[in-house]
Amino acid sequence: MVLTDPQAGNLVAIALGSNLGDSRTILMAAIDQLSQDPKIKLQATSHWYQTAAVGPPQPDYLNGCVSVLTTYSPKVLLEKLLAIEVQFGRVRQERWGPRTLDLDVLLFGQSVIQTPTLTVPHPYLHERAFVLAPLAEICPGWIHPVLKQTIAELTKAVDYTGVHRLAN
Ligand code: ATP
Ligand code: CA
Ligand code: CA
Repeated sequence: MVLTDPQAGNLVAIALGSNLGDSRTILMAAIDQLSQDPKIKLQATSHWYQTAAVGPPQPDYLNGCVSVLTTYSPKVLLEKLLAIEVQFGRVRQERWGPRTLDLDVLLFGQSVIQTPTLTVPHPYLHERAFVLAPLAEICPGWIHPVLKQTIAELTKAVDYTGVHRLAN
């Protein structure tokens, strides 16, 4: 798998989640918004997964993943994602509380990034069944640059209770 190309940019995996409002419509619109950016090229989209929420009691989530090619830097891409969250009505309240839209950078090529505002690979990627299930659909062979295991290998270590793939 080619993760970085001087012209096309870097391959990036993004997690999407929503458990407020019309989640499916919001997530589809967020992908549409992303793919309209001239510097972001959508590569693959997973199925949607209905998943029981962690954190305070709240509705089930709809989760999925996309891969994109982008020439944006990690920092600028994160800013774009946070702006799309706000555009879809995200209001930050309690930690891990319900939200209309959550967009996380899971993997950015083989980059390892640790800044106050951005950690890549996403620190909980390998622990979360609702992330690994859709991620494994679109990029099973991507090697986690810290854990040095493929996404397919990482999927074997998590419990999928409460994570249900939906027919798209
Ligand atoms: P979790 O990290 O457990 O998935 P969350 O998605 O609910 O939590 P948010 O409130 O959406 O957390 O984000 C808080 C901050 O996390 C963001 O403003 C951003 O600066 C920071 N952040 C750090 N690493 C990442 C990443 N890989 N993707 C998205 N945001 C990140
Ligand atoms: Ca998140
Ligand atoms: Ca987030």
